[in-house]
Amino acid sequence: MVGAGFAGLACARELAGSGLKVLVIEKKRNAGDHIHTTGILVKEAQDEWAAPANLVRAIRRVRVYGPSLRSAVVERDDYFFLATDTAGLLGWLQEETRKSGVEVRIGETFRGARRENGHWVLEESGAVCRFLVGADGARSPVARLMDLGRNTQYLKGVEYAYEPLDQAELSLHCFVDPEFAPGYIGWVLPGVGVTQVGLACHSRHTVDLRGFIRRIDPLFGLSKRRVLEKRGGIIPIGGLLRNFYGEGVLLLGDAAGMVSPLTAGGIHRAYLYGRLGAQAIAHHLQAGGPHPGEVIRKGYPGRPWQHAARWVYDHLPAGAMLEAALRMPRVFRRVAGKIFFDRMSWPE
Ligand SMILES: Cc1cc2nc3c(=O)[nH]c(=O)nc-3n(C[C@H](O)[C@H](O)[C@H](O)COP(=O)(O)OP(=O)(O)OC[C@H]3O[C@@H](n4cnc5c(N)ncnc54)[C@H](O)[C@@H]3O)c2cc1C
Repeated sequence: MVGAGFAGLACARELAGSGLKVLVIEKKRNAGDHIHTTGILVKEAQDEWAAPANLVRAIRRVRVYGPSLRSAVVERDDYFFLATDTAGLLGWLQEETRKSGVEVRIGETFRGARRENGHWVLEESGAVCRFLVGADGARSPVARLMDLGRNTQYLKGVEYAYEPLDQAELSLHCFVDPEFAPGYIGWVLPGVGVTQVGLACHSRHTVDLRGFIRRIDPLFGLSKRRVLEKRGGIIPIGGLLRNFYGEGVLLLGDAAGMVSPLTAGGIHRAYLYGRLGAQAIAHHLQAGGPHPGEVIRKGYPGRPWQHAARWVYDHLPAGAMLEAALRMPRVFRRVAGKIFFDRMSWPE
């Protein structure tokens, strides 16, 4: 397994549970180094692999703002998001995976592998395996070095973690603003011990997080707070890659494009397809089952409406439409409720 992120650890833990010998290699020395996610867990992700209470904070409301900063709240009693201490969560997932019998080697980078007698031999360490999984993120080196498909459509995101804002309303604050966030949104999240403020937009645009922060400063008073940490990265939104597996090799998580094209959430899919991918790998190796990639391709939901909704968001004047909807609270609550809370928004 290349990569000790959400997909790699979920897959490795499940594989060890099937009685297979699993090695994870991870280039980062500390789980909390270079975090490139806001780390929000949707309820379904928490159902998949429950994070401990001290690492999460439940958020039950979403406040949506139009370009004029007019806003409205949408909430549902039976749903929540979890802000996370993301560094702590990744460290905890790593420990849980180790406890399940997996060997996790940190500070080891994948630099290629050669095929010998139906096995992979890793460059540098010389480790030998029957099956190789690339769970190594949106710019997957495994995909590049093994000649598999690559993510070409993506969003760019940048985030600052500020000293906590004690007065901030306990909501996920989402800003639809085509000037600063064409193709996605800006956000303020009262997180675990920090307040996270971020912005993502199409890759062809520049992420002007400072400009965005100046715009929303009257609402939150961020300029009086210190920035404790900076995060950033890319989010693939083109959907599952055509060519995400080959002989003895499979990509999972962001590496394979397993991200919701609409919400850009990927942690739940990483957990879910990490686990399902592991079951398919175990069946393939232990009982001669089909290639795990074929199994995933058949079961992976196309969700054409999510791609259609993304097209609408990209091509129609989303800001003006939202401003109009904010003047019609019932319409707003129906549409926003569907996007944020409806199970159809997330893979089962
Ligand atoms: C700014 C931003 C905010 C986001 N916010 C959210 C959110 O709030 N909720 C949500 O659900 N999703 C969010 N996402 C998406 C989510 O972070 C990803 O979908 C998720 O992290 C995918 O997990 P993964 O395990 O596939 O990949 P990753 O989390 O990228 O893990 C890949 C791992 O592989 C390692 N690696 C890479 N190359 C090598 C190598 N050569 N050798 C060894 N190891 C290697 C990396 O160090 C890393 O640890 C966000 C993304 C961004 C960019």
